[in-house]
Amino acid sequence: MMYQDFATFHNRLMLRATLTLETGLRVGSGAGDSVVGADIPIVCDALGRPFIPGSSFKGALRATVERLARTINRFPVLWACTDPLDHKAGACVTAKRKDKMLADATDNGRINERKFARELAAETCTVCRLFGSPWLASKVRIKDLPLLEESWAGHVEVRTGVGIDRDTRTAAGQVLYSFEAVPAGTQFRCEIVVENADEVELGLLLLGLREMQQGHVPLGGARSRGLGWGKLSDWEEIGWVDKSNLLDYLTEGKVGTPPKPLEDYVKGLKGVLAGGGA
Ligand SMILES: [Zn+2]
Repeated sequence: MMYQDFATFHNRLMLRATLTLETGLRVGSGAGDSVVGADIPIVCDALGRPFIPGSSFKGALRATVERLARTINRFPVLWACTDPLDHKAGACVTAKRKDKMLADATDNGRINERKFARELAAETCTVCRLFGSPWLASKVRIKDLPLLEESWAGHVEVRTGVGIDRDTRTAAGQVLYSFEAVPAGTQFRCEIVVENADEVELGLLLLGLREMQQGHVPLGGARSRGLGWGKLSDWEEIGWVDKSNLLDYLTEGKVGTPPKPLEDYVKGLKGVLAGGGA
């Protein structure tokens, strides 16, 4: 089943894990690998300690989940569109289609928002439903990842790169530039909040997180130089809020445990996909 009603709270899953850098990490201003002659700072908090922007981590997680969804590919139960940013053709719901849905849901100048949200969700791919599209809010929220004090060496490394000429694609003479990198071994705390995900969406997301636990998490820039690999380690804390404990949560901050072990959502995917229906 799919939750159509976005105005209503159904459930919230909160996860906390540790991200350990396996190589140095450059999380810069978003500049690519071919920057010439620029010194690229890493992002730091007010106290000068580096952190990983939640958006960077979310991008890496989305890419992992997208890859999995394309491999599994069981339209319309679990699938990924070709290019969520291509509003003309590649996105699951194009701008034109969205306008048509909006027109269909409008009567006498009044938009039936529930109807619109239902139709929109029905045609949106699993990945865009989880991570958001231009027309649909993301169900996954990731805060900026602060570093774990005890893992922090207290300083960043400064590395030197050779500039690549953008036009000729060759090393541009002696164009050297330096950039900062967070040393390998540094750990960050990762907090993920998932709201109103159905069982298929949750299963797929957890599968993506499991990939990140087993393999490498590609983050930040300069990956072609072997930088930017991290690994997610086991969950430290799992919280669950739904209608049954919403009051406890709001009044006392108490969270519950998910209705079934998280592992079961991943296993459940198999059954759902075999049955062909959610
Ligand atoms: Zn999509």
